[in-house]
Amino acid sequence: MGQIKTNAIVLSRADYRENDRMLTLFSPTLGRVDALARRAKSQKSPLLAASELFCSGEYVLYATRDRATVESCHITDTFFPLRESYERFSHGIYLLELCRHVVQPGEENERLFLFLLRSLAHLAYGTSEPKSVTAIFIMGLLSLTGYRPRVTRCISCGEPIGTVPGGYAISTAEAGILCANCKRAEPSIEERDAEAMQRIMRLGLKTLDEGLEISDSAFHALLAMARERLDGTFQSEKALI
Ligand SMILES: [Zn+2]
Repeated sequence: MGQIKTNAIVLSRADYRENDRMLTLFSPTLGRVDALARRAKSQKSPLLAASELFCSGEYVLYATRDRATVESCHITDTFFPLRESYERFSHGIYLLELCRHVVQPGEENERLFLFLLRSLAHLAYGTSEPKSVTAIFIMGLLSLTGYRPRVTRCISCGEPIGTVPGGYAISTAEAGILCANCKRAEPSIEERDAEAMQRIMRLGLKTLDEGLEISDSAFHALLAMARERLDGTFQSEKALI
């Protein structure tokens, strides 16, 4: 209660009354925080930029028992180049929406916070395909939330992936890879996708340093995996397909 200083990023915002905005912030120590930014819509407001999507920085909040308001913000990054590419912007919005779904009020999650900022930096300033960054983010997010994808052995028979010929499939419900002998109607993926997923689980965002290509079928399977494992529907997913 009282004044709180915290790093945070704007996950979503909604217009509120005539000139205010209601922000949903993600703080590494406080989790999800809904905070009112008074007069943020006015062009002269010092909170105008601080209440935009993707804005991250040190926020000073004033919290009472039933609400928080933004007093000021020292901005560290706005990820501005995301606004110059519809594709990159759409992927960024999807990452924010996943976090809004996962992050709970009062729950600290420093690792996810840093992972989100680094992923957005790749989307905004990097040269990797947005699809590759999002694929890594989904797999990392699932790991951080307790649904670590299983990619080294077939989740049904346990044979090491890479030893059974005939292609693979992704079980979106169980977040893992199935070999040719065990797959049924699950989405098929190519062998290079299975390898890519193994590299992602080992290296995280560093996978991008060596270049990463994900087929459309594997990417769609990962989107489905996020929906099923996180038990959510994500509006922003439509713009990625
Ligand atoms: Zn198998």
